[in-house]
Amino acid sequence: MSGPRPVRAPRGTELNTLGWQQEGALRMLMNNLDAEVAEHPDKLVVYGGTGKAARSWEAYDAIVRTLETLKDDETLLVQSGKPVGVMRTNEWAPRVLLANSNLVGDWANWEEFRKLEAEGLTMYGQMTAGSWIYIGSQGIVQGTYETFGAVARKKFDGTLAGTITLTAGMGGMGGAQPLAVTMNEGVAICVDVDETRIDRRIGTRYLDVKADNLDHALELAIQARDERRGLSIGVVGNAAEIFPELLRRDAPIDIVTDQTSAHDPLAYLPVGISVEDWDKEREADPAGFTEKSRKSMALHVEAMVGFLDKGAEVFDYGNSIRDEARKAGYDRAFDFPGFVPAHIRPLFEEGLGPFRWAALSGDPKDIAATDKAIKELFPENKHLHRWIDMAGERIAFEGLPARICWLGYGERHLAGLKFNEMVASGELSAPVAIGRDHLDSGSVASPYRETEAMKDGSDAIADWPLLNALVNTASGASWVSIHHGGGVGMGRSIHAGQVCVADGTELAARKIERVLTNDPAMGVIRHVDAGYEHAADVAKERGVRVPMTEG
Ligand code: NAD
Repeated sequence: MSGPRPVRAPRGTELNTLGWQQEGALRMLMNNLDAEVAEHPDKLVVYGGTGKAARSWEAYDAIVRTLETLKDDETLLVQSGKPVGVMRTNEWAPRVLLANSNLVGDWANWEEFRKLEAEGLTMYGQMTAGSWIYIGSQGIVQGTYETFGAVARKKFDGTLAGTITLTAGMGGMGGAQPLAVTMNEGVAICVDVDETRIDRRIGTRYLDVKADNLDHALELAIQARDERRGLSIGVVGNAAEIFPELLRRDAPIDIVTDQTSAHDPLAYLPVGISVEDWDKEREADPAGFTEKSRKSMALHVEAMVGFLDKGAEVFDYGNSIRDEARKAGYDRAFDFPGFVPAHIRPLFEEGLGPFRWAALSGDPKDIAATDKAIKELFPENKHLHRWIDMAGERIAFEGLPARICWLGYGERHLAGLKFNEMVASGELSAPVAIGRDHLDSGSVASPYRETEAMKDGSDAIADWPLLNALVNTASGASWVSIHHGGGVGMGRSIHAGQVCVADGTELAARKIERVLTNDPAMGVIRHVDAGYEHAADVAKERGVRVPMTEG
């Protein structure tokens, strides 16, 4: 069978494959394409512009078919969303190895990529789309919550109460912003050109209300701010018009950021084109569309710099909008920083990052049990407890029930081993897939985002994500992936992912202990190597070996 159709991962304990390692991959691939999870499942697009889980429906069918018969000592190779081989390996080896969107340096640009994509030779894997560990908007909520929490600590006495944040992009990832702001007690005005995106976020309770127009949005925002009440407000419009308009009106905005899909100029709607004509226009003239969207991004970023000049806290939220605006000739685009150097790097120095897991049973009770287990494992970590409690109350599951929380080196393997024990004892009704975003401390080279402004200037060194994928493969992950271009677009990033299935076996425990120790250790050593003192202290205190500091 080929062609679009509804996809939903099987639930329960009955296997559709020869083992839980393969079953985990099958269910997570299908879960990525569940209509509750994916932004455009009919096109196999999961999130982040055109981030896909499989190259074509034929490729999807072939992956499923192969996973169904894949043995415990075999490895399926996936090249940009298409299964290309099955190799005899061994039971410690990953069941699936994936490489997505990789291009040789001089060819690593959107133009070349789109040519090859049109010829059916590649696909855009984004980060967790092509590596089958996307879990809906929740995946990004905690990272966004951490970022806004860091902004609050830096500038607003630890809370966003009494402040207004302006942002745009209510898509798969950007849709986490309103909830993250209100979790930090602030007010958010959230702009999106596509009303259905705003309605969808209201449906999942990530966004509180939709304003009738900009005046209404401002009125609601100021009222909530004055009452120090958290509120998120969606407003339909083009950010390249609304941001400059708010600046002209001297709107009382305290924090400005953006998560439109600016990394891909065809996924950013320029001023003057309607949502209805978007597909038609970009297909008819990609080069002309790119030029128009870059011009609009320049207006958008110019307004962000305008707010910066007025004293607002402004940061790029990892979509490369500054570079696109620069390409359109706006020369102050890099006046404001990216969110990693501004707020997240100290967490990365400890190997902290977005750890996540999904209950393959489909039973929300399994996630409730893991939430409880996490709190018991880390009784002192009040920040983590606050997150787990809020997530339990406020996050609607999309697809298989899942949870994310930021854990670091020395913590993740404890959680993984605990979950594996809970599967073995029957406390969880089925195995759990444990993975992470590629946006992590030691798994990505991305000079406009995760590795922007590294202390030693090593921003563009891409050996680290490759070593990360190699060490996770050597350590026994269930599937491992190497991608190019996720987050910030073609030519701007190389990154790796891993997922481990905790199936309750002794073998899984041995693999999990190694993978979930070594994977965050990559973050620690990467930052020690770049000269970060905190990372060096963490390495020393927690016993991470760094040869150049020994002897
Ligand atoms: P998405 O494609 O699902 O959503 C993008 C949204 O932007 C859509 O709803 C679209 O209608 C809207 N949009 C496009 N042009 C617009 C315009 N001119 N004005 C207003 N709205 C407009 O993408 P996503 O998954 O939400 O990701 C958004 C961006 O954030 C991507 O560039 C992605 O790479 C980046 N990202 C950042 C992080 C991070 O942690 N900072 C993580 C993941 C993704």
